[in-house]
Amino acid sequence: MSVDIDLSGRVALVTGAGRGIGREIALALAAAGADVAINDFADEPACAAVVGEIIGLGRTSICVMGDVGDDEAVNGMVERVESELGPLAVVVNNAGITRDQVVMMMDPADFDAVIRTHLRGTFLVSKAAARKMFRRREGCIVNISSVVGRRGNAGQANYAAAKAGIIGLTKSLAKELGARGVRVNAIAPGYIDTPMTQSLPDEVKKAIVEATPLRGIGQPGDVAAAVLFLASPLAKFITGCVLPVDGGLGI
Ligand code: NDP
Repeated sequence: MSVDIDLSGRVALVTGAGRGIGREIALALAAAGADVAINDFADEPACAAVVGEIIGLGRTSICVMGDVGDDEAVNGMVERVESELGPLAVVVNNAGITRDQVVMMMDPADFDAVIRTHLRGTFLVSKAAARKMFRRREGCIVNISSVVGRRGNAGQANYAAAKAGIIGLTKSLAKELGARGVRVNAIAPGYIDTPMTQSLPDEVKKAIVEATPLRGIGQPGDVAAAVLFLASPLAKFITGCVLPVDGGLGI
């Protein structure tokens, strides 16, 4: 059995890939041979830089800017990827935001914004891609959830609800698409060093490290490695799973 992950000839779309975990996932998929479309909401220069890095790896890449919570934007994005790069084989729903606050103080607009980007965004992108994959009887979707979606977190009820929702969506879609050979999985990262977490107070970071059995902070590459595995033929009999990449934090 060969354990090399070879995604050459495959087309992937990664949402929220201008920086952080999404950027690393996009680069890992390209390094494994895939052509990769880079989605991001606002930061076009960042997206263009990732596209440039992927082209530097000898792969094809395009920027598809747009809000994952907007159905017209999402449908246009998926159509453009298929017409410019080819049939979508791998979709990674990674785009995300936080609007942290305890429930008693939370502005309903911040609840809605987080649900919209994470849960509605994952639904819309998955729906558009699934319609193509279902017909072709091929494809795989990887959704980025969180340890917080499995355990909850004080001050992040909106985010935890969205990430728990992504787990329910993942399992339901896995059941809907499995008979057609389309796989749908989720990854639940713990604390990962990215712009999203860099602003956390030092005492919060210290407490997270102490609560993590492997006593560390994850890197974006740790999540990208799990995506590569789930997107590869090595995971051909895996669907509906929630793979923790959290140093044991979720145990
Ligand atoms: P970052 O904040 O570093 O990156 C998030 C990316 O998502 C940005 O590029 C941002 O683009 C993009 N984005 C935000 N809203 C939208 C939208 N509506 N449409 C398209 N793109 C959008 O976050 P991380 O890399 O840390 O997180 C990536 C994913 O991993 C998220 O889903 C997050 O919840 C999850 N995660 C992260 C953990 C961590 O510890 N970092 C732990 C567990 C899960 P722009 O800059 O243009 O707004």
